[in-house]
Amino acid sequence: MQKIIVMLGAPGAGKGTQSRRLSERFGYPQISTGDILREMAKAPTALGQEIKTVQSAGKLVSDDVLAEVIRARTSQPDSKNGYILDGFPRTLSQAKLLDHLAREQGNDIILVRVVTSHDALMKRLTGRRTCATCGEIYNIYSRPPKVDAICDRDGGPTLQRSDDNAESVEARLKAYEESTAPLIAHYTKSGRMIEIDGERPVDEVFETILKVIERGRDNKKIGRTED
Ligand code: AMP
Repeated sequence: MQKIIVMLGAPGAGKGTQSRRLSERFGYPQISTGDILREMAKAPTALGQEIKTVQSAGKLVSDDVLAEVIRARTSQPDSKNGYILDGFPRTLSQAKLLDHLAREQGNDIILVRVVTSHDALMKRLTGRRTCATCGEIYNIYSRPPKVDAICDRDGGPTLQRSDDNAESVEARLKAYEESTAPLIAHYTKSGRMIEIDGERPVDEVFETILKVIERGRDNKKIGRTED
């Protein structure tokens, strides 16, 4: 099975958590453009510094940079059998590139959108903490680690991302509305996207995504409670 699983949804919808689980289940790499760009932002180069500025403002990095990043990452040997995209595409131009890559690489695209309300997103993002060593994701409101600020899995420190403060979060949600909503509208019209209620418990959302992947494209609104 050669598949590109695309996790769509606003920042904080739970794409990262679910992508991580899917990666463990299927053995596909989780390709998080946010993580790749955060690494690139550490470089003392003009590009690194530009990415850093854009990311901390909560804006979107240019499509040209993303095209380079995604081409390079998906041509690594570990992506040969399939991969999970977490945070890409975010614009119509990126979606076109993805269609092109899928044709080139001979992969099927499964589009999964995790739908979550604005209030829930704010709480999830400002409360999010991530283990600095293994990447496990916690939330101080809904899923705190057993010992404050210490990862349950490996004892690493759980840290807040610099763009998870209230101001950056508002900017990121605005960037999502402006740039990504048209992409969602495009995918909705194409009938290729499956929508899942992201406010259900994490395990339930995961089971629903698995069912969707197994059944393919026929179920467009599995597990969605609104509408
Ligand atoms: P994330 O970790 O997915 O929330 O992404 C964090 C930040 O990285 C975003 O706010 C953007 O600045 C940047 N970023 C990640 N993915 C993309 C993308 N596909 N297009 C443009 N910018 C991105």
